[in-house]
Amino acid sequence: MTRPSFESIREQGRLEALQRYDVLDTPEEEGFDRIIRLVRHLMRVPMATVTFVDGHRQWFKARQGLEACEGERRHAFCDITIRQAATLIVPDTHLDSRLADNPLVTGAPHLRFYAGVPLITGDGHAIGTLCALDTVPHHPLPDEIAAMTDLAQVTMDQLELRQVALTDLMTGALSRRAFRDELARMLGLAKRHQHELSLIAFDLDHFKAVNDTHGHQAGDRVLAESVAACRRQLRQSDLIGRLGGEEFAVLLPLTGRQAALGVAEKLRQAIAALSFEGAGGGLFSVTASLGLAALDGDSTDPENLLRAADEALYAAKATGRDRCVASQLGTGSGGMAGKRVLKAGRIVFNAGQSVIDCTVRRLSERGASLAVTSTADVPSRFKLAIEADSFSRLCETTRKAGSEIEVAFA
Ligand code: GH3
Ligand code: MG
Ligand code: MG
Repeated sequence: MTRPSFESIREQGRLEALQRYDVLDTPEEEGFDRIIRLVRHLMRVPMATVTFVDGHRQWFKARQGLEACEGERRHAFCDITIRQAATLIVPDTHLDSRLADNPLVTGAPHLRFYAGVPLITGDGHAIGTLCALDTVPHHPLPDEIAAMTDLAQVTMDQLELRQVALTDLMTGALSRRAFRDELARMLGLAKRHQHELSLIAFDLDHFKAVNDTHGHQAGDRVLAESVAACRRQLRQSDLIGRLGGEEFAVLLPLTGRQAALGVAEKLRQAIAALSFEGAGGGLFSVTASLGLAALDGDSTDPENLLRAADEALYAAKATGRDRCVASQLGTGSGGMAGKRVLKAGRIVFNAGQSVIDCTVRRLSERGASLAVTSTADVPSRFKLAIEADSFSRLCETTRKAGSEIEVAFA
């Protein structure tokens, strides 16, 4: 087995940095839109983006003048920018040997000019870019590039602020960071005094379809009202946090596994009982999947507890959604779903002749969950390679849904 390259180790650190911001696949936000409007005026271009580079794709947090919200990484100009971790200016793509045959140049959107400034984290990882694009050549002036560099810094500041905010304005839930801090504190107390404590993680089911059918504003209302409905079922001393887009966690101090299962079931019912006015004027409702983990013994730290609740949540999704599942933590049987990761992987088949890039989202001893741009060309058997881990296993596809593939290791 070959050793991972320096490049792949650096890429792994980069993906971990990107994951900390929890920004992929979140909706548009005015703060980022405002920045790209400025870029368009400043550079006098019709297209601008705030782009993040995932394992297998580029994804736009903000975009103007472009149809698609993501694209394959291997064609992304931004991938060159983040790999060199320095500003890339291409005045005319037709004169650039790296880009002249790129499908984004030869076909729609027929890119002719590109200016990309990397978005670099405090610890030096280039996670994305701020870009200006046009279908005609440009020769930007040095002070235009300097202003774009400043705007890239504003973009990073915006991203940091989003993380640091203590409460989520939309739902009133604690931010992920605040919730984690609170969880660590309460867990410390519970262990010291040998009190019980439970954690419930939940995620709305098929929420993407809610947004697609009824619009983002209806989606936002669902989020706010689901949290409010949960709060009506909880005690004053329970805490609720927003861990991701439509993913939440509830901390139940002084509550053991059995009682917590009862609470989880009440939360499930409270969410399912809500009704919302849909795009066509009719009513619709939503469901959630819940996972529960209880503090057992004193070896549990906040990360373990969150991971156990998350694995149980994932099991609730896998077994049909709209249900509560309790983690087997403490009973000695490890998680089946696998822990959440973010790794660049490659799907290799056809005797090594065909390769499809993917992002590994979950990984366990037995299998993995992968994200790809399209599942259509992925065969039922292939080799999964994760270069950063020197990992390579034969896989059997067990499920395909949307852009996700579940595999079992042979
Ligand atoms: P699953 O049952 O597997 O959880 O399916 P899902 O569609 O809920 O899962 P997925 O993670 O694919 O999609 C989550 C969606 O949540 C995608 C994203 O656009 C949406 N979302 C995340 N944050 C927000 C938000 O703040 N507001 C709105 N309206 N939508 C959001
Ligand atoms: Mg969901
Ligand atoms: Mg989710």
